[in-house]
Amino acid sequence: MEKTNNNIVYSRTDKSKVNLTDAEWKQILPDDVYYIARQKGTERPWSSKYEKFHEAGTYFCAACGNALFRSDTKFESGCGWPSFYEPISRGSIIYAPDHTAGMERTEVMCGRCKAHLGHVFEDGPPPTGLRYCINGVVLDFEKAAAAEKKYKEENKKN
Ligand SMILES: [Zn+2]
Repeated sequence: MEKTNNNIVYSRTDKSKVNLTDAEWKQILPDDVYYIARQKGTERPWSSKYEKFHEAGTYFCAACGNALFRSDTKFESGCGWPSFYEPISRGSIIYAPDHTAGMERTEVMCGRCKAHLGHVFEDGPPPTGLRYCINGVVLDFEKAAAAEKKYKEENKKN
């Protein structure tokens, strides 16, 4: 079932845009990631391990490895999905109007591979007032090495 090893486009350093056909994505992505990223699916609320998750680090696109969000912009929105108030950089995310489901929403996609990530709403906290409501399935998390070290040192003291 582990198809991520076939993912030849996944890279945390390569910034070049990824343009694959739907069939190619289906080959290299796990089924749950494919469903969200390429078919614009939505995971069940409260189902993501990242919904209540407070580790310090960086969130990457699970389809291509593009850096998307930092843990210090993550907040408890209570909406059932991992929520952030700001992307890691301007180019990390692209936006598109979404009129489906009888709502006026703004879709957010990965700036490198155009994977569907979720939506952005204007009811977030300062400083941006935005709430990026993101499917946890399309996020890869990497712990900040420095933060991990500090945590271990503090635990040793206590
Ligand atoms: Zn991506």
